[in-house]
Amino acid sequence: MSRFAVDAMLGKLALWLRLTGHDSFYRADIDDNELLRVANSEKRILLTSDANLHQHAVERDIRGMLVRGSVDEAVAYVFIEFGISPTIDPTKSRCSKCNGELIQLDSTEKERVRNLVHKKTYDYYDKFWLCKDCQSVFFQGGYWQNILRYVERIDELMKERRDT
Ligand SMILES: [Zn+2]
Repeated sequence: MSRFAVDAMLGKLALWLRLTGHDSFYRADIDDNELLRVANSEKRILLTSDANLHQHAVERDIRGMLVRGSVDEAVAYVFIEFGISPTIDPTKSRCSKCNGELIQLDSTEKERVRNLVHKKTYDYYDKFWLCKDCQSVFFQGGYWQNILRYVERIDELMKERRDT
């Protein structure tokens, strides 16, 4: 599976790559040289919408893709280019905050997050995902519907793109 290093300007792209289970380095405050260094040393594909940065990557033999268009189009084009399916399997997702791996906890194991979420949330949900690295906790709350709606939109954009 492809691993990515995502330009600071493309936070939303990094988010969707992580949610679809792709190891994606991203830091909002990183500078170009540091990003190139990470992409090079960790053999990551550099995704950027900055033509200069893309050119620097090419010169250093770093595999990269120059991402064009609106944010949603960028997500759709990257998914097409790297054969990524616009579906989210939370057992494979990476942490949206830090890219860490998630541990799925079912109702018998959820005790582990008791002190990390609100009591109402803890009582209401049976399944949680805990990041191994930053200890963030995820569950399929109200925003889950938004996530599903967004991946549908990406799916549509990918179909339009393929049809043209
Ligand atoms: Zn994390």
